[in-house]
Amino acid sequence: MLLTISTTHTPATDLGYLLHKHPDRHQFFSMSFGQASVFYPEANTDKCTAALLLDIDPICLVRGKSKSGDRPLEQYVNDRPYVASSFLSVALAQVFRTAMSGHCKDRPELAETAIPLTVNLSVLPCRGGEKFLRKMFEPLGYQVTAEPLILDAKFPEWGASPYFAVELENTIKLADLLSHLYVLIPVLDDEKHYWVGDEEIEKLMRHGEGWLNAHPAREQIANRYLKRQRRLTKIAISQLAEEDHLDPDAIELSHQQEEEVLEKRISLNEQRLTSVMEVLQSSSAKRVVDLGCGEGKLLQLLLKDSAIEQITGVDVSYRILEIAKERLQVDRFSPAQQSRLQLLQSSLIYRDSRLTGYDVATVIEVIEHLDLERLAIFERNLFEFIRAKRAIVTTPNVEYNVRFENLPAGKFRHRDHRFEWTRQEFQTWANGVADRFGYEVEFRSIGMEDLAVGSPTQMAIFTRQV
Ligand code: SAH
Repeated sequence: MLLTISTTHTPATDLGYLLHKHPDRHQFFSMSFGQASVFYPEANTDKCTAALLLDIDPICLVRGKSKSGDRPLEQYVNDRPYVASSFLSVALAQVFRTAMSGHCKDRPELAETAIPLTVNLSVLPCRGGEKFLRKMFEPLGYQVTAEPLILDAKFPEWGASPYFAVELENTIKLADLLSHLYVLIPVLDDEKHYWVGDEEIEKLMRHGEGWLNAHPAREQIANRYLKRQRRLTKIAISQLAEEDHLDPDAIELSHQQEEEVLEKRISLNEQRLTSVMEVLQSSSAKRVVDLGCGEGKLLQLLLKDSAIEQITGVDVSYRILEIAKERLQVDRFSPAQQSRLQLLQSSLIYRDSRLTGYDVATVIEVIEHLDLERLAIFERNLFEFIRAKRAIVTTPNVEYNVRFENLPAGKFRHRDHRFEWTRQEFQTWANGVADRFGYEVEFRSIGMEDLAVGSPTQMAIFTRQV
């Protein structure tokens, strides 16, 4: 089974960085069902093609399985070794794990850029035919070319097969393309070679993040992906429906970058982190929870401070936590370091007992992402339930926006911001919560102070009274 991914983005050999596989090397990966290998049939500046070859061992597939049933030969005589199926998805997730998470140490900006990509699948089973194949990929912006494969050239009377040689073209981020393939290949095959349980819902949600929810055939995709198990499909569909009301993380990510570019001129982010670290150090904090930790920029600084014993990063987005894990290189941590850091997926508007007992809770550039009507729930969660000794909250000062040349008047800094406050609005809110929940509050400005409009970021430091 062969899958190739090509790009004409120049220099095309950057594909090697994106896939974390060097174009000059032929690499082998052992799978539970055989072997996968990656090589580059062509790698030059104008065009580069990476190939994933899957060599499925039919004996592996049968081993340990009972041979009973009314079709005992089926285990031996089937299409598994020759077609793109859920085995290919497993291989993609294993071999291109880092690329799939959207992370690329050497070309971070490229990983976030839509580039021209072409995928060729030599034999893709499309149960439901070409129409179904198009229904899967075209809404995601792919140009689909499908060549039907006949069952056997020697016996044309046997007719068409469910197999197609497929080419998919799109200008897209590589990580998104890999996620689409991961989910849709088994959907097209309409078969899963392994047991489908509750954890498959989590995989579907994770790899479907940012696109499945908006896909016109999302219910059919969930149904087939979950092997038509009604209970699982129902849960998945209700989770997708819930997502309609949440912020899609993919949008969140790209918007975060827009905000970063805007604020870059004054490297505001660094100034913000430095100010937060100063407060943390003066608080003699030992246990810190960073709520809405994003890619883990603050966590990185916290890890470097040996006085801090326990660090917890929390975010609602699974994808962003995966990116944080990659950025922090958690895989390379010593066991001692590993026990210092935990990353939790959780929402700030739900009570989560894992978040109590901390010296300091930081909420850096997060509140403005919450709907105003949910802010009251978050307040109670932060000051009544989590109730750290100190809470540090930062948020943009909207008055300063007029100083950003690239920001049109009246626009927020980030498309996902639900509100941005003036200094007066922020202080009124912070004084109110401090009063209600028994905290004292102090305000600081972050970034260059402008006489007329104040500083770009505002910070409130809440200290518990008892
Ligand atoms: N604190 C980070 C990230 C700020 S961006 C930094 O300063 O770089 C805002 C982050 O809040 C995003 O990562 C987003 O996923 C997260 N977020 C938004 N709503 C959330 C919620 N309800 N619960 C937890 N995290 C949330």
